Amino acid sequence: MERVLITGAAGFLGSHLCDKFLNEGFKVIGMDNFITGSSKNIAHILAHPNFEFIEHDVTEYIAIDGKLDYILHFASPASPIDYLRIPIQTLKVGSLGTHNVLGLAKAKKARVLIASTSEVYGDPLVHPQTEAYYGNVNPIGPRGVYDEAKRFQEAMTMAYHNFHGIETRIVRIFNTYGPRMRLNDGRVIPAFMGQILRGEDLTVFGDGSQTRSFCYIDDQIDGIFKLLFSDYHLPVNIGNPEEISILDFAKEIIALTGGQSTIIFKELPVNDPLQRCPDITKAQTILGWKPKVDRKTGMKRTFDYFKSLSEQELYETQHKNFDKYIKK
Ligand code: NAD
Ligand code: UDP
Repeated sequence: MERVLITGAAGFLGSHLCDKFLNEGFKVIGMDNFITGSSKNIAHILAHPNFEFIEHDVTEYIAIDGKLDYILHFASPASPIDYLRIPIQTLKVGSLGTHNVLGLAKAKKARVLIASTSEVYGDPLVHPQTEAYYGNVNPIGPRGVYDEAKRFQEAMTMAYHNFHGIETRIVRIFNTYGPRMRLNDGRVIPAFMGQILRGEDLTVFGDGSQTRSFCYIDDQIDGIFKLLFSDYHLPVNIGNPEEISILDFAKEIIALTGGQSTIIFKELPVNDPLQRCPDITKAQTILGWKPKVDRKTGMKRTFDYFKSLSEQELYETQHKNFDKYIKK
């Protein structure tokens, strides 16, 4: 059996990746330090005979016994409010954490896939974004800790590929959503759905004319899986190119959920990208991949998940592990 290490395993994407690789017949080692993830996301696989969990901070040396065929590096805060609260941990996991992962891949002769992001394009001046675009990032702005860590991560990955000849893959993930997102992580879908469930107003930032393109988790996982097993080592965008303004999206969510909330406007965060939409030509031609789940279907599944949460989870405003790590 082939053996895969997934960092960030207790997070949103990482936990779905664990499910996918277990279903595909791999032995899976999940690794996480729970800084933004939750043990609840992996509770259903803890007893699986092919799953092993290691609680570990990947910015520290990573020791794994035995052979390793693949590594998927997904450890990193991903929500703007998370990486604003833990900026140094965000920089460290993208840089030191990636260095450790690449060193492990070299030692084990494993193929490694790195989770990059559409944020490498910053507030893009090219639209839609192709992989050839270099981006428009403010390194010292509030989002710089995340964007630059991810850009460094890509540079480090390419250096290990070119200098050490290790097998690398880089996925540039565009806004992805679905069950197991943290309701209080500040990203727009959990934010709006939480507000509807609590009977609060929906907070649209700025005038809501900024756009995003939302990809359902199952499509994202399918694209990542195909990329890992392709022979293509340069970055590939994986996302859903159906673009919508945040204001229209707020209205759509209210209609879809039958909520009674009204929309209020709040200040646009600094350097919030004004438009974002992936050009997925590469994924289509190289991987034969394109998203299948339409927004209505994906949003309904996600809302059903949030509806199933407890009253306590609905009102939790801060992730339970933040204090522990912030004092560190
Ligand atoms: P998430 O916060 O749900 O998951 C991240 C996981 O990494 C958490 O479980 C967290 O505890 C863990 N982690 C963070 N730092 C760690 C460390 N030093 N050591 C060990 N574990 C650590 O976020 P997500 O949405 O699942 O994102 C996962 C990855 O995908 C991230 O690398 C993110 O940058 C990337 N990504 C996600 C999106 C998206 O829309 N969800 C978009 C672009 C990129
Ligand atoms: N947003 C919003 N209201 C909220 C949360 C987010 O209008 O309560 C906006 C945010 O300003 C951004 C978009 O929704 O323009 C997507 O934000 P998110 O944090 O989900 O991810 P981003 O794509 O900015 O990383």
